[in-house]
Amino acid sequence: MFINAFSKPFCEHEGMGGVEQSQRRVAHARDGDKILSQAPSLSPVKGPEKLADSLEAVTPEMTSTAVPQAPKIRPQVVDPMTEKYSFISSYWHYMAGLVCLSLTMATLLEGRFPPPDVLWFSLASLPLILSGSILRCIEEKRPRGLALRIGFMLFSVALPMFLYGYGIASWAQSGGLDWPLAIGTLVVSTALAAVFMGGKAPGLFAAQISCWSAVALAHGATTLVAPMIAAVLFAALVSIRQAEIARVRRKFSAERERIRRRAEEILTDYEDTGQGWFWETDRRGLLTYVSHPVARALGFNSNEAMIGFSFTDLFDLGRSGQEGERTLTFHLSARSSFQELPVRAAIRGAERWWSVTGRPLYDDFGNFIGFRGSGLDLTEQRRSQEKASRLAHYDSLTGLANRFQMSQSLEKILNAPNEMQRCCAVLLLDLDRFKQVNDTMGHPVGDTLLTQVAERLECSVGDLGRVGRLGGDEFKVILPGVMSRDKLAELSREIINAISQSYSVEGHRVVIGASIGISIAPDDGMTSEELIRNADLALYAAKDGGRGRYHFYADDLLSEAEENRQLEQDLRDAISRGDMELVYQPVVDTAAEKITGFEALMRWNHPEKGPISPDKFIAVAEDAGLIGTLGEWALRTACHDLAKWPENVRVAVNVSALQFANPHLPAIVTSAIAEAGIAAERLELEITESVFLTDDDGTDAMFTALKNVGVRMALDDFGTGYSSLGYLKKAPFDKIKIDQSFVRGATEPGSRNGAIIASITSLAQALGMETTAEGVETLDELDLVRLQGCSHVQGYIYERPLSSARVAERLKAGLGAVARGPRSARAPRQTMLRKVVLDHNGQLYNGTVRNISVTGAMIEGLWNVPEGTSFRITLSTDHTVVASTRWCEQDRMGVEFERPLARDANGRIVAITQSPPDSVAVQELRTVG
Ligand code: C2E
Ligand code: CA
Ligand code: CA
Repeated sequence: MFINAFSKPFCEHEGMGGVEQSQRRVAHARDGDKILSQAPSLSPVKGPEKLADSLEAVTPEMTSTAVPQAPKIRPQVVDPMTEKYSFISSYWHYMAGLVCLSLTMATLLEGRFPPPDVLWFSLASLPLILSGSILRCIEEKRPRGLALRIGFMLFSVALPMFLYGYGIASWAQSGGLDWPLAIGTLVVSTALAAVFMGGKAPGLFAAQISCWSAVALAHGATTLVAPMIAAVLFAALVSIRQAEIARVRRKFSAERERIRRRAEEILTDYEDTGQGWFWETDRRGLLTYVSHPVARALGFNSNEAMIGFSFTDLFDLGRSGQEGERTLTFHLSARSSFQELPVRAAIRGAERWWSVTGRPLYDDFGNFIGFRGSGLDLTEQRRSQEKASRLAHYDSLTGLANRFQMSQSLEKILNAPNEMQRCCAVLLLDLDRFKQVNDTMGHPVGDTLLTQVAERLECSVGDLGRVGRLGGDEFKVILPGVMSRDKLAELSREIINAISQSYSVEGHRVVIGASIGISIAPDDGMTSEELIRNADLALYAAKDGGRGRYHFYADDLLSEAEENRQLEQDLRDAISRGDMELVYQPVVDTAAEKITGFEALMRWNHPEKGPISPDKFIAVAEDAGLIGTLGEWALRTACHDLAKWPENVRVAVNVSALQFANPHLPAIVTSAIAEAGIAAERLELEITESVFLTDDDGTDAMFTALKNVGVRMALDDFGTGYSSLGYLKKAPFDKIKIDQSFVRGATEPGSRNGAIIASITSLAQALGMETTAEGVETLDELDLVRLQGCSHVQGYIYERPLSSARVAERLKAGLGAVARGPRSARAPRQTMLRKVVLDHNGQLYNGTVRNISVTGAMIEGLWNVPEGTSFRITLSTDHTVVASTRWCEQDRMGVEFERPLARDANGRIVAITQSPPDSVAVQELRTVG
């Protein structure tokens, strides 16, 4: 209903129905019209016909963006070409009255009746005159030939006028009527006859000539007969010419009418399509024309009803946006043309948009007479634009903001004019185990799960910030403003907790987790690239730290990432140059103290950095997609070396979970065995529990395939990862390797590791599996694992990893193994005075090691270091260790190494057998933290 934007007094009428209001408004507008119409020089207003007439002028300019559909031309109702044309005027019957009147007047003036013959002549003319109407009807009913039409005209016009003229003239001739009076009567009569003939020249001539020739005849002026005949002929010629002109004129006007109607129909048809409409106003901005679809859309029965309304009443300018409003009202008041202005239609309850175009109109004297223009429906276009923008800005699955929208939001915050407004925190969130759910339960379950995760995430974050989905199982949260680390940590914990609660999806109970990386502006970066990269690094660290955690960005993450990138490149080079090496660590049968096999361990001696730990470069190889090549190389090399060793020793090769997921693994293994010519059961594959993270059919199939190849399987690092005893039942392992973290410290008083080892060995025995205790270093540990029933031992207590050549040499001495090493686990301290460099978050300090063991050191030179401070300590040019402070007294502190230091064959700590690092030029800082 058309309610809005009318003249204020009526809009304020509460409770008034829309139609009623409209009617009042019409009245109001018309009243206004009346008042204003008293103003001088009101410009002429063109009606709809005029508008139709000038359609050709409007269309190309006004509807430049709309191409009207081909109009349907309707058959014309009346063809002006077939309209009857008579030589007798439709007013001719008045002539009968005139005849009577003239006779009466003459009688009265003369004071006596006309003689009977005069009366008869005159009265005889009356029925002839009146027959004219009948003849005219006959002519109009059906087209008649020219001769008949002339005949009709002579019968009802020429003949009666002749009789009348003759009657009056003979009256005068007989002396009964004065000649001047007779002539006067005839002049007036013929003049009025000409009027009654209504411009029909043939009839007019015929009436004149017949009347005056009758006068001449009655007067006896026979000499006049010849000119009269000539006049008749002339009159006939004039009639024919006149008929021709009339025909051409009719044809011309019929053609004009046809064009006018066609324009009108094109206009109506175009308007009916609803694509576009036209409008016209007077100089006051009141509508003089508007297309009927617009009137209907606004709740009016016809477009006529809208005449007199203000043009701006068509629009809801208040909601059209500032710019649209300003420009439309501006153009109207400035009387300037406007093009395609988007405006909202004043339709309540429906959102409809139009694009209006208009131009001012001027009359021939240059006076402004109003506006004329067109409109187009923009609604669909706007809707699809909105849809496109929604798609461009929002994630279609979860309805959260998408990557694009999120980075825009972040940019907006970071570009805020005020420094305080630029503070924010970015949380990058990655779901743990989502891939497995998606792969095993199908994508629809995955999609539903993501939707539920999005809901929980939004619920946890609430008003604190904005949540978005970056794609896959990655989410991002932007928290504007300053937020303390404690608060951020609390929120992160809450999010992880919310997401880690179980889900019910299509009848399945699903449990997943989440890891979060946090970066804070401005501390961790001022640009969105920096913040995202740093949050990403923090996320990476959170996942690395065991998932289900949050991690704040710290500068060392970046240097680590850069280091890893460099390492990746170096590793590629090393692989292509063949720099990788395999070493073999003996595995000893506990009871028999005999070597039963070797574990192949990869080594990489970096040209600059020296030996790199496999823990590190294997992870890099996995990330860089190099593990396949590297693993295959290890398999083939190990098999190749094994072929040279006695039949009763085996080789165990570590297989990464990524290799295990490769369906070609059985083929690679088969090929390596065949190439080396060894028995399949001499090869043992060590896999970790992580392969069970994807506990799907593929894992089972891989086990079956490898078992079919005939190789042995060992479960490595048991107890450190995703431990579920369930898979021990179905996976056909031959051996369980107890991780060295259980062996380490097992001999210390109060340790429960011994009990764990005991239960693992009894479980393995029950399942018919062997057990290998890894990382046995001391005689005490050896005694313990032996006591707890481990069938095999692998550790420095027997042997360190050996090169292939040294294995061959070692085997020459037989398979017997002797345990050699310290009795106790307590690392013996070595006193010394050694300059070292300590690095705390990029800040370098010089220090002096006073004593060192494989697990820790006492360092002098740094003052008041808080407990727990972490350092990277360069002990020698090739050895850097990570250590944390356990205690500090004045300038002395005790640090514990993150990983125990390695000893060489002589029991010396390798790191300090090499030359100390150069001191750095930073000594002035005496306190840390
Ligand atoms: P892992 O499979 O658990 O290998 C045993 C690790 O324990 C080896 O470390 C070995 O040198 C070390 N070790 C053995 N006895 C002792 C001991 O008495 N005390 C101490 N402290 N350590 C001992 P390494 O060679 O540094 O390898 C580390 C990890 O790198 C391996 O752990 C394995 O997960 C991975 N790795 C090594 N080579 C390969 C390989 O060829 N392929 C794959 N996928 N991973 C490998
Ligand atoms: Ca292993
Ligand atoms: Ca292991």
